[in-house]
Amino acid sequence: MIIAVDEPAASGKGTIARALAAHYGIPHLDTGGLYRAVALSLRRAGGDPDNEGDALAATGFPDGLLADPELRAEETGVLASRLSAYPAVRAALLKRQRDFAHQQGGAVLDGRDIGTVIAPEADAKLYVIASPRVRAERRATEMTGQGQKADIDVMESEIAARDARDMGRDNAPLAQADDADLLDTSELTIDAAIQRAIALVDARLEGYPKG
Ligand code: C5P
Repeated sequence: MIIAVDEPAASGKGTIARALAAHYGIPHLDTGGLYRAVALSLRRAGGDPDNEGDALAATGFPDGLLADPELRAEETGVLASRLSAYPAVRAALLKRQRDFAHQQGGAVLDGRDIGTVIAPEADAKLYVIASPRVRAERRATEMTGQGQKADIDVMESEIAARDARDMGRDNAPLAQADDADLLDTSELTIDAAIQRAIALVDARLEGYPKG
C-alpha cells in the first residue's frame, strides 16, 4: 500500500503524513528532507547554487545530514527549492524514493511530486493545501514557540514565492494528480485535518487486500 501526500510549502503535510504512517503502521519518508540535505551539503561544500554540476555532486550527501538541525531552517528550504528545479538533482533522488515507496508492507511519502512522478500508482493520494496566510501564521507560531522571531508578512511572501517556484518549474512541478483527493486545512485544527485525511485514505483503500 502506497500513500502519496503532496502539498505546497508549510501546509502541514509533514504532520498529516506522519499521522497517516502511524495510523496504518507503515514507514514514512519526508522527501523534502532529501532536497534540504542536498542544499545543506552544497552550502557546506562551498558549492555554487547556480551550477547544476555542484548541485548534482551534493546529492551524494551522507545520511547523517538528514538529522541535522539546520535541515529545517528557512534558508535551507529556500535553497532546496532552487536546487530541486535541476533535472539532474531530481533524477539522482528518484530511485531512493521509488525504492522506499515499493518496500514490502507499503509506505507513506510526502513531497511535491509523489502522486505525479514518484508513485503515480499510489493507492491513495492527498493534495493538502492551506492559504499562504494560514501557513505563514502556523509557521510563525512554530518559530516563536522555539524562541525565534517571526514576521508573518515576510513569511507569507516567502511562502508565496516558494509556491510559485515549485509550481512553475518545468521538471516535476507541484501539481494535484488527477486522482488525488484535495484536503484544504485552512479552517481545520490539526486533529480535524488528520481525521479527514484518514477518512479520505480509507475510502480509497476500500477493498485493498488486507494482511
Ligand atoms: O517540503 P519541504 O519544504 O521540506 O521541501 C523543500 C523544497 O524541496 C520544496 O520547496 C521543493 O522545492 C523541494 N521538493 C521537491 N520535491 C519533493 C519534495 C520537496 O521539489 N518531492
